[in-house]
Amino acid sequence: MSNKIINNIFFIINELEKEQNLFKKSSDEFNFYPFYFEDFLNDKIKFDPKDFDDRQNNLIVINKSFYDRKEKENLINKLLIKLNILNPHFLFIDYKDCGIHELENIIRKENFFYKLSEKNKQNDIYLMLVLIFQHIKDLTRLSDYIINSFQTIVNSELINQQKMKIEQLYKELENLSKIDILTNVLNRRAFFEALDREITRTFRDLWRIYSLNNPDLNYNKIDKNVENFYKNSPQGNLLDHYGKLSCLMIDIDHFKNINDEYGHIMGDTVLKEVGNLLNSSKIFRDNDIVGRFGGEEFIVILPETNAMHAKIPAERLRNEIKSTKFKSEKDTFNITISIGIAELTKDDKSSDKIIERADKALYYAKQHGKDKCVIYDEIEEFLEG
Ligand code: GH3
Ligand code: MG
Ligand code: MG
Repeated sequence: MSNKIINNIFFIINELEKEQNLFKKSSDEFNFYPFYFEDFLNDKIKFDPKDFDDRQNNLIVINKSFYDRKEKENLINKLLIKLNILNPHFLFIDYKDCGIHELENIIRKENFFYKLSEKNKQNDIYLMLVLIFQHIKDLTRLSDYIINSFQTIVNSELINQQKMKIEQLYKELENLSKIDILTNVLNRRAFFEALDREITRTFRDLWRIYSLNNPDLNYNKIDKNVENFYKNSPQGNLLDHYGKLSCLMIDIDHFKNINDEYGHIMGDTVLKEVGNLLNSSKIFRDNDIVGRFGGEEFIVILPETNAMHAKIPAERLRNEIKSTKFKSEKDTFNITISIGIAELTKDDKSSDKIIERADKALYYAKQHGKDKCVIYDEIEEFLEG
C-alpha cells in the first residue's frame, strides 16, 4: 500500500438508484464501491477486508430514510465488521429536509448530510466529496493532536510523580548523609555547615543591635502583653540573648577505660545513649544544634544564648549523665563528662575560634579533676597568665 491517503466511498445504492451516476465521477481521489445493502449482507458482494482499515478515510454514502428504517445497530455492525472498519463517516443523503435536531446529531457524530435536488450536477457532488474528505482529514489530524497532547499530559504527570519521588529520596539521602550513624546527631561536616549558618545569623543580629544604638534595649521594657504569646516567657535582658551564640564541647571522661573494661560494643552503646539524651528535649532547646565532633566528643551550638546561660543546660546534661545507670553483662556503671563552654565574640573571624576556646575550656576541666563545666571567659586569665 502506498503512503497516499486513500479515500474510500461505500455507496449504498438502495433508494439512491437514480443518483448512481452522480456518485461515480471517476477520479484519483476516491475509490467508489457501490453496492446494494442486501447483496452485501448476503455476501453476494465480497470485499477483501485487507483492503480497508481505519487509517484510511472511509465514507459511507447512504440514503437517510433508508438508513432510518433499517435497524441501525444491525446495519452498522454488519457493515463495519465485514468491511474491517470501525470508525467510518456517514454521508446521509435524502430528497427531503432533515430536522434541525437530527442534523445536530449527525454533525456531532462527525457525519454529514446532503439534501438532493433535481438540479444536482456531478461537479457539485464531486466538490462536496472533496470538501468532506478535507474535513475528515482535518478531524483526524485534530484527534491525533488531541491524543498526542493527552499523552504528553499523561507523561508529564508521570514525570512529575517520578520527580517528586526522586526529590523525596534525595532529601532522605541528604538527611542521612548529615547524621552520624552511631549516635544519631549531626556528623562533623553537617555540624560545621549549621554552625557557619548560625554564626552568620548571629552577626546579622549583632549588627542590628549596634545599628539600633540603644544599649538600654530591654525585654522588660517591652509591652507586657507580648508575654502572653509565650507559654514560658523568656526571662532576662534581651541583650543577654540577642546577637549571642555559645558552644559546648563535651567529652566523656575516662572513656578508654569503659572500652577496656566492658568492650567496644558497650562503649558504642554508651555513645548511642548519650546521643539520644542530647537529641531529646530533656536538656536542650529545639533549635540548639547537636553534633558528634569525633570519637567520644560531642559539640552543641546554642543560638541566642550567652556563655553564662549556656552553663545551665551544660550542668543539667552533666548531672543527667552522671545519674544515668548503664547496664553491662558484668554490672551497672556510671560515666561522667567534662564540658568546655565558649561564647561567640564579634572579633571571631571564623567558626574555628569559638571551637578553639571551647576546647581550651574543656582541656582546663580535664586538667582540674574532670566531671565539670568550665566557661572559657572565667579561665582566660589563668591560661594567659
Ligand atoms: P579523658 O577523660 O581524658 O577524656 O580520657 P578518655 O579515655 O575519655 O580519652 P581518650 O581520648 O584517651 O580516649 C577516647 C577513647 O574513645 C579512645 C577510643 O578508643 C574511644 N572511642 C572513640 N570513638 C569510639 C567509638 O565510636 N566507639 C567506641 N566504643 N569507642 C570509641
Ligand atoms: Mg576525647
Ligand atoms: Mg574522653
